Amino acid sequence: MNNIFVYIEIEEGKIADVSLELLTKARSLAKTLNCKVEAIAIGSNIAGIETTLAQYGAEVVHIADDKELAPYRTLPHTAIVCGVFEQEKPQIALFGASSVGRDLGPRVSSALHSGLTADCTSLEIGDHTTKDKEYKDLLYQIRPAFGGNIIATIINPDCRPQMATVREGVMRMERVASPAKAEVKIIDFKKFLKDSDFAVKIISREIEHRKINIKGASVVVAGGYGMGSKEGFEQLHKLAEVLGGEVGASRAAVDSGFAEHARQVGQTGTTVRPKLYIACGISGQIQHTAGMDGSAMIIAINNDADAPIHKLADYSIVGDVNEVVEKMIKYYKEN
Ligand code: FAD
Repeated sequence: MNNIFVYIEIEEGKIADVSLELLTKARSLAKTLNCKVEAIAIGSNIAGIETTLAQYGAEVVHIADDKELAPYRTLPHTAIVCGVFEQEKPQIALFGASSVGRDLGPRVSSALHSGLTADCTSLEIGDHTTKDKEYKDLLYQIRPAFGGNIIATIINPDCRPQMATVREGVMRMERVASPAKAEVKIIDFKKFLKDSDFAVKIISREIEHRKINIKGASVVVAGGYGMGSKEGFEQLHKLAEVLGGEVGASRAAVDSGFAEHARQVGQTGTTVRPKLYIACGISGQIQHTAGMDGSAMIIAINNDADAPIHKLADYSIVGDVNEVVEKMIKYYKEN
């Protein structure tokens, strides 16, 4: 059985979380398929990367390490990934739905005449039967479709590798209990490259470090349209501060100018999994809940007892959000 490959994204010498999330997921898919998890890492000064990757489930690590290979560049990275895939013939290839993965994944799938499902939120293994053929052990590539109104399961029965990009933060990142040593395969990458792959020269780079980090916050206090105004959101900032958390927002709140886009939680925003998510004046439409339903505990504050968010919440407070939030700030400051 051919193996599952995960493309490892490296930014500023650090492995992207989404790559470790994908390795964790690939581990469980590989268990079902009875195959191995392989990682492909391309960069500069990345010797030893296999130790970390093995901790998340990589059994084989393909490495191309050269100063010319960092930072990421579309053409050389595509050529190397395609070269390795043509050689190794993976049955499944996974990329993060980050700016790099969204650039690289489709190019690789096009070059290999395969298909790719973008922005998946879940992956499973399943069968499919048509009137002429039975397919076993396909990759179910699951993602919201038609504006998030349905969850589509997409399969790619006849092309290999089956390819997907997966949204950051939707899958858990878990270490293997007792990791084995990964086998390292050094990629003879020069044979895959042509001079024209280096036609694009990077003259300068500016990295924008995100000041707002709702993805990494253990507490997210999120506000919706029900907060009424930008000033209403200031209360949420105070509550987030006393709880040591970050402020999130629904798209309606972002579109109304109550909060910055970097705070948007949901299908077209960020996926978060905090220990505590407090939804303030948010109705709980599927496009929002898709980005927060993995939170360990959810508290909903909404004056409409029938708002869908209450069905998802562990604790519901039916009341005026301004009054409730004020009381919460006072309580947590005193306790
Ligand atoms: P509303 O639905 O208007 O809800 C406001 C809530 O506040 C109501 O339930 C109301 O009862 C309550 N309320 C009002 N006043 C008070 C008060 N004083 N006290 C307490 N409660 C009060 N949405 C996202 O959030 N994230 C996304 O990423 C996203 N992506 C989308 C992608 C697509 C393709 C589409 C079509 C939509 C997307 N949406 C997204 C929009 C989504 O469908 C909803 O419109 C949005 O989530 C609603 O935001 P809301 O809950 O803040 O506003």
